[in-house]
Parts: sequence; structure tokens; C-alpha cells
Amino acid sequence: MSGNNNSISDRICVLASHFTGSSPMASEKEAALAATPSDADAPTIFDKIINKEIPSTVVYEDDKVLAFRDITPQAPTHILIIPKVKDGLSGLSKAEERHFDILGRLLYTAKLVAKQEGLDEGFRIVINDGPKGCQSVYHIHVHLLGGRQMNWPPG
Ligand code: 5GP
Repeated sequence: MSGNNNSISDRICVLASHFTGSSPMASEKEAALAATPSDADAPTIFDKIINKEIPSTVVYEDDKVLAFRDITPQAPTHILIIPKVKDGLSGLSKAEERHFDILGRLLYTAKLVAKQEGLDEGFRIVINDGPKGCQSVYHIHVHLLGGRQMNWPPG
């Protein structure tokens, strides 16, 4: 299916855009535009990370949540926090009342990991949603960014 980030061609496209863009911001945008929003339950590259089929640097794990370092960090600390079971949450725009618990857990885990990473002076949480929100992987994830001064407004 074309919207499945798990396909080899989509994966190459996303990785190529990560590494060939003239600026990190541009490459992230290209990756997002290359990723067609997939079915809510379609697998993504994050399923392979959860199942340890591809390597990642895990910084926190429990029975519900996995946190690992982003492969293309946009800050000295850049960690992704994801639910182990997607349950239709390809993005925040798909949230329903049954997701209250996991949404809270993702944010609380972000706080725990920020503490673990020593981000005592502050950090930023980002949830990209959809093509215009620059989402490239359709398995909800919280970005935890820190270790440098953030700017506002974001790009
Ligand atoms: P989004 O653009 O969807 O908000 O964020 C997806 C993030 O996943 C990007 O920051 C991207 O760098 C990261 N990412 C994509 N593929 C991989 C991977 O295979 N491993 C890791 N660790 N991060 C990935």
C-alpha cells in the first residue's frame, strides 16, 4: 500500500530525504511530504523498532511505551516516545476517548525521560500531525527535544 512507511521504496525515500537535504528543516519537510498518511492500523518502521527487528537506542521502555533516540536528531537530545500498541493512533488527529490513558502516558514518559536526560533547564515537546504538520511516520509519537536554546515561532 502506498501509504505504508514500511515499504522499501517509501523507506528509501524518507531516508534519502533525511540525508540529502541542504538543511535539516528542509529534509524533514521532504520526508513528511513523501509519506502519504496511511491507514490508521497500517504498520510503520516504528513497529520494527518496537519488535527490535531494526536497531535503535532505547532510553526508556515499559509494557506500554518505548522511547528511543531519533535517527536524525534536531537537537543534542532528540528522543521519540511511542505507544507499543498503536490502536488506531496513527496521529493525534485520530485520538478518541479510549486513548486518554496512552496519551497521558506518552506525555508523562516525556517528563521522565527529560529528567533522565538532565534537561533541567527546559525542553520542547512536539507532536507533528499530517502532511502540513510535517508528520512522516504514521504511528503517533512525541518528540522530546532539548540540550540547546529553542526558538519561537517554530518553522
Ligand atoms: P515525524 O516527522 O513523523 O514527526 O517524526 C518521525 C521521526 O522519526 C523523524 O524525526 C525521523 O528522524 C525519525 N525516524 C524515522 N525513521 C527512523 C528510524 O528508523 N529510527 C529512528 N531512531 N528514528 C527514525
